[in-house]
Formats: sequence, structure tokens, C-alpha cells
Amino acid sequence: MDQTRSQSPEPPGPKPIRRLHESLINRIAAGEIIHRPASALKELIENSLDAGSTSIRVTVKDGGMKLLQIQDNGSGIRKTDLPLLAERFATSKISTFSDLSQLTTYGFRGEALASISHVAHLSVITKTESDTCAWKACYEDGSLVPVKAGLTPDPKPCAGNEGTTIIVEDLFYNTPTRLSALRSSSEEYARILDVITKYAVHNSTVSFTCKKGGSPSADLSTPSGSTTQQAIRLLYGHSVAKELIHVSEQDDPEAWSAEAYVTSASYQAKKIVLLLFINNRLVDSSRIKRSLEAVYSSILPKGASPYIYLSLHIDPRSVDVNVHPTKREVHFLNEDMIIEDICDAIQEALAGRSHSRVFEYQVRCSPETFQTLKRKRTKIRHRPLVCEPALKKKVYSHHKVRTSTQDRTLDSMFPVVNPSQIITPPSGGEGDASPQAIKLREIKQSECYLTSVQHLRREVEKARHKHLTEILDKHIFVGIVDVKRCLSLIQHSTRLYLLNHDAFAYELFYQLGLRQFGNMSRFKLNPPPALKTMIKLAVDAEEGTTKSRYSKEQIVEIITSTLIARREMLQEYFSLGISENGAVEYLPLLLRGYTPNLDKLPSFLMRLGPQVDWTSEKECFETFLRELALFYVPGPLVQDSSDGVPDEEKAERWQVEHVLFPSLRRYLCPPKTLLDQDIVQVANLPDLYRVFERC
Ligand code: ADP
Ligand code: MG
Repeated sequence: MDQTRSQSPEPPGPKPIRRLHESLINRIAAGEIIHRPASALKELIENSLDAGSTSIRVTVKDGGMKLLQIQDNGSGIRKTDLPLLAERFATSKISTFSDLSQLTTYGFRGEALASISHVAHLSVITKTESDTCAWKACYEDGSLVPVKAGLTPDPKPCAGNEGTTIIVEDLFYNTPTRLSALRSSSEEYARILDVITKYAVHNSTVSFTCKKGGSPSADLSTPSGSTTQQAIRLLYGHSVAKELIHVSEQDDPEAWSAEAYVTSASYQAKKIVLLLFINNRLVDSSRIKRSLEAVYSSILPKGASPYIYLSLHIDPRSVDVNVHPTKREVHFLNEDMIIEDICDAIQEALAGRSHSRVFEYQVRCSPETFQTLKRKRTKIRHRPLVCEPALKKKVYSHHKVRTSTQDRTLDSMFPVVNPSQIITPPSGGEGDASPQAIKLREIKQSECYLTSVQHLRREVEKARHKHLTEILDKHIFVGIVDVKRCLSLIQHSTRLYLLNHDAFAYELFYQLGLRQFGNMSRFKLNPPPALKTMIKLAVDAEEGTTKSRYSKEQIVEIITSTLIARREMLQEYFSLGISENGAVEYLPLLLRGYTPNLDKLPSFLMRLGPQVDWTSEKECFETFLRELALFYVPGPLVQDSSDGVPDEEKAERWQVEHVLFPSLRRYLCPPKTLLDQDIVQVANLPDLYRVFERC
């Protein structure tokens, strides 16, 4: 633009708008994807990995500015695909829009090679298994150009191994500002090594080498077929490797899973080293980084940092595809919850490691031992735990919502204690779904300034019955007596109590709703059912509506529109997601590991119409949370299941025992009213006490 100005004097007034030349547009676009040699290399490595390579060799000259060459032994590229290779949005990885959201390969929009061809001289030598020779092609601004002056631009046959070699020369030769923004070639080379090192850890089965052009020896070289730990040892040294703890955590495996190797409290580095891979792409997430730092801030001295390799797999549909694939900062659905779960797991593992010295049963860190560790820790919880005082506290500074009156103690990390769990033989098959491993996430009280909510919370506290609290606090779960009638037995001291766990659950879920007001987790309904259809189902099943002055259709209409009109409030306060066109997209998740019986969804939604007092704030919140609690209480199960124990009943039994009762102990502030009707002492059996003692 400067040139124009010097050639012809600018007319007065606003400057005319001009369309930029296409090649300039492409160059600008390319600069956004390829920032520096290391970012080009990252894309190329991902392509090689996508092509199934087991060996990747990188050669670099002048920090990658002069030459960046990457040779792989992957699938190669078909000769017929070569003309398209460097065209923007040309890719073999997606063909429809919906593919975008399903994608699990690395780069995904066909932009990398195109971008490189706009800011560098790009050549490709490639050979597929069925080719008899290799083919060489050169690219400029997205299209093929002759390999040598005077020849046609078509790919030329040449000698070469199976796989692909990509040669990038004179990076940023035509974008001088980009070039001048780069650091010294040694610094750029260091960044290149860093990218390769990280991919080499994440792909420990693949062999990587990197060397400077002209140098006889490699600066980095890994064998193929290593384990992650071996790769870390090789690349980051023994001091890191010997302190590694393996952590794996997952929710519903289809939703997400995480695997990490983190250093124990005995390792201290000056700066945090974080290798974060999400769906196999090396990314940044300042949120994850801050959370992990917070975990360690309580166990490492000030100024000391850990080494962390974390690989996260998230249902690709939950990763924000609108975030540009080359933007390293990523976002995904339920980010906070997932991060918190991972941090919890790491914190537990770290705590476990520091105890292992005390109990001397845990030395290595394979996944199996990690599971064993979890089990063993559950067993030893009644012994005095020796730990650094700092470990008792779990404080994530990044959390905005923090009013919990109780700090989490180490002891409370092992909430599931009941006879069946303690009795379970520790040698239980590795493959079993390991119900013992269920972990209760601490549910914090959200910060809420609404006086109505504060009042409701105070009322709960005021109604607390001391003795019942004590009973629940120290109870031992004996068993479910009758699932259908919701009766269970618990033991406290030498007494045995029969209680209606439904009534207790009703109180619990009401209180959990109140506790998490405005900050509830949620779970998705897929596909999202139509609100109206749900309500209609329930209204049709309802008896006595004929007496109403409204027809059934009108009732359905009124309830539906009442809820849709309040959808924003429902979403914000209760995580009940209703779309504009009336689809129920997600529901509040009050207690992790506990799913309400979705058969009750229609009736829950219907009852929100007449049962919730929509006119005044406090009553509205209270009645809504009561309805939500009713939806959440166990049962009733599908009628009449006379043939054996159906799966649903088994699942419910499991939920009641492993999730409901531990949560009652932990969160319920039992009101006196429960004492009146819902719990009776059935025996005082000193002998029984001894039986449980032995466990
Ligand atoms: P994307 O990876 O997003 O598809 P790229 O521009 O990075 O886009 O690559 C374009 C296409 O070129 C890829 O889809 C793939 O088919 C092919 N390709 C690139 N690099 C390699 C390689 N090393 N081996 C095999 N095929 C490759
Ligand atoms: Mg790519």
C-alpha cells in the first residue's frame, strides 16, 4: 500500500476501499496458520502421524527458515491427488459438514499444506505401496509448478522410499514482517525440538529423529515401540521419570477419558513442564494449566513446579469446532467439570503416593497398580493417615465459587465405606467395572447472593436434627431390605435402623439442588425430546383431568408455554436447558454417578406447571427444587417385574448403596421431620457390632 501512496498522491477525503489481491489474502491467511517454523512442523508431523507412519525424520537448516524437511514412512499420497494437495480446503479427512464434528484425526481442514505453499517453496516426494516409483511435485501459491524451469508442472517420477517427504524451503521469504518477527535460528530450532519431543512422548511407539542439515548426528532420536514412561525417561531424563505417577480417569468413556503421567511431590522443577494433548493434538489451555498448578501449589514449596503429561480424549462433538484448528487454545463442553475431575484424580494419586511410603505397599505406577492403590486406600481409611498438613487442603484458586465451610480432608476423599465394599476381595478381577472405584466428587456450595436462596439455606440448617445427623454421620450401610418400598437398614453404634431411603433421598436432593443453586452440572439428552410431547405424555396418563375447566390440549399448551417463557431462568439457576423451539436439551445433574429414572421425566416436566409457584421468588425456587428432588428420588421401577431381578433394579440397588448412602452421610442435613416417620430403630444388637468390627 505504501507503494501506491508514493506513486500517486492521495485524493483528499476518505481513502478508497480496495480489494486486496488474492495472493496477498492467501498469504495473510497462511500467516495466521503458520506462525513460525515450529508451527509448520507441527502440522507436518500430524499429517505424517495421520498417514500411519512409524518413523518420522526431521531435518532443519537455519532454525527451519532455510529448510524444514520431514520424511515419513506412512501411506504416501496417490499421484492423482498430488495436483490438489496444496489447494486450500483440499483434504482427504472430511467430506461433509457433519464430518467436522466427528473428526478424530489431527489437522482437519486441508489448510496446512496450502498455507505453507503460500509462504514458502514447497516440494513433496511421495510413494504409495502400489506405486512403482516415487513422485516429486512442487507447489507455489496452492498449485503445482514445474520442478525445474522449462518442464511442465506435472509430478515427475523419481527414486524414493514408501512414504512421504515434505520439503519446505525459505519459509516466509515473501512475508518479510513475519520473517523479522522470528527469533534467532537457535531459538527457533529449540522450539522445533520442543514440538518433536512432545509428539515423541505422546506417540511413544513411533520413532522420531531430528537433526540439523549437514550435521552427521541427530540431536533427538527415539526408538519405535517404547512405552510412554520410557519415552519420558529418554527425552526428559531419569529425574523426571523416576517420580512419575500414572493417573487415568474417565467419565462415561464415550464422553471423555484422560490419561496422565505426573511427577510426585518429590520432584521439583523451576518451571512447569506441561504436555497437553487433546484428541491427539498438542494444545494449550490456560484453564487446565492453572488448575494443575493449583493442585501442586498445595504440595510443592513455593517456586517449585511439576512435570505433567496429560492426554485427554473428548467426544469430538464436544470440542468447539469453531475454534480454529491451529489455535492452540481450545475449549470444550463441560470444561470445568472435566478439569475438576482430572485434578481430583491427580490430587488423589499424589496423596496416595505420599502415603505409600507410610504403608509400603505401593511402588510402581502401572495402571493396574493404580487401581489396586485405589482399592487398598479404601481399605485402610480407618488407620491414621500421616500426611503433610498442606495436603489436607484442596484449593483451586481459579474457582470463582468458593464458600464451602469445610475444607476437604484427606479422609473425605474416600467416602465410600460400607461393609460390602470392605469385604470385597482385593484380588477382584481387573476387568470388572470396579464399582468400588466410584469416587464422590466434592459438591461445593455455590456462592449465591439472592436473599431468597440464602434464606432457604438457612432454613435447612435450622431444621437440622442433631442426633439424626450423628446417626447418618457414623452409619454403616447394612443393606436394602425392599427396593420397591424403598426400605434399607443401617447400623449406628449398636443399633439397627430401618429407614425409608426415598424420603431421605428426597431431602438430600432438595438440599443438593439448593447447595448448587446457579451452578449445577448438567447432562445432555440425546436426542433432545420435545417438551410438549413429554408433557402431553404425562397429561394423558394423568387421571382426573377431565374435571378441569381446561381441555387436555389446553393444559399441555399452558404448561409448555409457561416453561418456555422461563427457559432462561431455568437454564441459569437450574441447568435445565430448553431450546427456543421447545426441545429439552439437558437436565441438571445433582449428584455425579447418580442418574434419575428418566421414565419420570414426562411427569417431572408436567408437574413443573401446576406445582411450582411461579409468582414469588423464594417459593418458586423452593417448589422447583422440591419437584426436582422428587424426580431424582429412586424408583418407582417399571411395574411388575416378576421375572427375576431386572437390570434396572440391579442398577438402582447399586446407586442406592454406592452413591445415595455415602452422599446422605456427607451432605444431608437431616430435618426432624424425617425422624417422625421415616426411620425406626429395629434392634439393638451388640453382637452385630462385633461382626462389623471385624470387617
Ligand atoms: P489436512 O491434514 O487438514 O487434511 P493438509 O493440508 O495438512 O490438510 O494435508 C492435505 C492432505 O494431504 C491430507 O488430507 C492428506 O490426504 C495428504 N497428506 C498430507 N501430508 C501427508 C503425509 N505425510 N502422508 C500422507 N498423506 C499426506
Ligand atoms: Mg494436516
